[in-house]
Amino acid sequence: MNSTANKILSHYFGYETFRAGQAETIDYILQSKNTLAVMPTGSGKSLCYQIPGLLLDGTALIISPLISLMKDQVDALQSLGIAATYVNSSLSPSEQSVRLNDIRMGKYKFVYVAPERFESSYFMNSMKNLRLSLIAFDEAHCISQWGHDFRPSYRSIIPRLNEMPRLPVLIALTATATQDVITDIQNLLQIDPHHIVKTGFERENLSFHLVKGKDKYSYVRSFLDEHKDESGIIYTATRKQADMLYDQLHKKGIAVEKYHAGLSEEERKRAQSAFIRDEIPIMVATNAFGMGIDKSNVRFVIHYAMPMNIESYYQEAGRAGRDGEPSDCILLFSPQDIQLQKFLIEQSDFSEEAKQNEYRKLQAMINYCHTHSCLSLYIINYFTNESEAGSEPCGRCGNCMYQSEKVDITEEAQMILSCVKRMGERFGVGMTAKVLRGSKDKKITSFKLDTLSTYGILSAYTEKDLTERIQFLIAENFLGSEEGKYPILKLNKQSVDVLKGKQSVWMYTAPIPSIEEADFQKELFDLLRALRKQIADETNVPPYVLFSDATLRDLCRYFPTTKEEMLEIKGIGEKKYEQYGEIFLHEINEWKAAHPEVKPKIQINSSPVVRRVRKTSEHEGPSHLASYKMFQTGKSIKEIAIIREMNEQTIEKHLFKAFEDGYPLAWNIFFNDEEEKVILQAHEQLEEKRLKPLKESLPDSYDYRKIQAVLVKNNLT
Ligand code: ADP
Ligand code: ZN
Repeated sequence: MNSTANKILSHYFGYETFRAGQAETIDYILQSKNTLAVMPTGSGKSLCYQIPGLLLDGTALIISPLISLMKDQVDALQSLGIAATYVNSSLSPSEQSVRLNDIRMGKYKFVYVAPERFESSYFMNSMKNLRLSLIAFDEAHCISQWGHDFRPSYRSIIPRLNEMPRLPVLIALTATATQDVITDIQNLLQIDPHHIVKTGFERENLSFHLVKGKDKYSYVRSFLDEHKDESGIIYTATRKQADMLYDQLHKKGIAVEKYHAGLSEEERKRAQSAFIRDEIPIMVATNAFGMGIDKSNVRFVIHYAMPMNIESYYQEAGRAGRDGEPSDCILLFSPQDIQLQKFLIEQSDFSEEAKQNEYRKLQAMINYCHTHSCLSLYIINYFTNESEAGSEPCGRCGNCMYQSEKVDITEEAQMILSCVKRMGERFGVGMTAKVLRGSKDKKITSFKLDTLSTYGILSAYTEKDLTERIQFLIAENFLGSEEGKYPILKLNKQSVDVLKGKQSVWMYTAPIPSIEEADFQKELFDLLRALRKQIADETNVPPYVLFSDATLRDLCRYFPTTKEEMLEIKGIGEKKYEQYGEIFLHEINEWKAAHPEVKPKIQINSSPVVRRVRKTSEHEGPSHLASYKMFQTGKSIKEIAIIREMNEQTIEKHLFKAFEDGYPLAWNIFFNDEEEKVILQAHEQLEEKRLKPLKESLPDSYDYRKIQAVLVKNNLT
């Protein structure tokens, strides 16, 4: 590898090693080979042309279909002290001509242009006499008619380019390309198969989660509660849905913006800018939002409904975690989403053949929502040839993490299904849940549903628990649901199999992913973030252009105190240091002086943040009694914890509380007579009657649950 490329990497960009695919791509370009790089979002594609651009003579031309991205890229380069500019329709004709003049004089190392520019002969003439180092096609999939985002203006550049007297080396970059698209790009830009660099699609910092059979709004609320201060996007399927969710959240005092094609350009601009500038953390939007959004510190992307295909899903979800920090991608699925997408395809003016193709892609998306295996793997294999398909589960997604916690709910499923049957397959989810719970609702009595043998057979559950069960059965196609405003439940073939005991039903619930307690100094992080925001506003750039969140977090782990130490931090090179190093050092040193007790982490540059999952839930009624009733029907504490999405200690507390309320408990599940005797003796001898010393005075086999149970039973708490 070219050693000057390494120097540039560390000097300008502040990184010590290349990421997968980067060195290879740069190498080919430096050898003047046309190259295609297929690398996932956030993997560092920009460096692949920026480093050769700096090394080669002349100006690098970067063609980008995303006007909004250009300014960001230019800002980022300028913040590194590199001469860069852009030309697109956002500039007035006079501004354009000034810039073109400067470009012609070779003032810039990097020029970003929109594909439409090539239709202008004025522009083409300016380019003819310019010495070009390279031409890069960003978002190269837009060039292919097989891509999901075909731009004819992109493709028509090719014949124009061929008119140029001296064509430099070409490089195409994309994150999403199926084999058809790759072949197409390769033919158009004359790229030798040896010069295609593919690093695979996996994004190792993203955790995918699928949430089914839940009330979407409550889920979002609980999620946002768990993720205060984090920036995220919530995608809705329609404008109406975006408006509704926005209103609901806004009313609750949550700082949100919204974005969709129904808003005026001005409103959209303002919303986008507030989001990008870290003023408002949450964006509720349709898929009109995000093209060209380069905000690197998006910590989560929630889809409020299933999108149309895996391509769109991966692209939208992929806007999380561009800075490489752990981030969550959550899809909230409900069976109605399928109806909506089918409707949209029907309404489109696609040809019959194109519609069939869309249906095929939709089916793959639906399957994603029902797969029981690794979600990342599913997506990656969707984009990969069968022969190259991966088989290693990611270990991070909802399916990888909770499969082992599945609970057999066959019995409940049978009760639910038989209730649907007895209700004559004439009612919806809500009424069915009420009957199962034994509700005294007037509607129930007026339909005489309280006389059914299934009335109240699942009274141990809350209505919400039951609704979720029923919705889960629908999602998994164990129960049919007729279309319409008030979907009616119907049995299907699978329901019959379950009722006959030929098929069992397993369920796991998707808890809300949350963050492990920060391994960096949060207080300092907030200070540095504010400083970053202030400087960013002064220089009119988005905050993440100055330093990424990843860099800020590292500063708050290692507290560098000198220039040398600062340069050790990922993302800070000489150039960045020159511009912002000292002011940040100063802030860090001041904070350190005020907190002498806080020690930096030892190891520089290794900081995987471990994610942990906490279970939370909202519930109705006397929650402890709901747990108690489930316990009485023979469920273990662990199972109840999973079903109710609480932790086991909480369930334990519920049971003890029920006992204190006067309900009987089968104590032999917790301890036997002998153990009770030992614990009571130890307790008596203890001076300080606290749990910890008691535990320490007992053999290891006496766990907290056992001890606590004995104390509760004997009224010693
Ligand atoms: P892409 O265009 O592939 O989505 P970017 O070029 O925007 O990705 O890069 C994503 C992030 O990764 C940026 O913050 C960038 O500075 C960082 N990055 C790029 N190359 C490296 C590297 N070799 N080491 C560490 N971080 C890198
Ligand atoms: Zn997985």
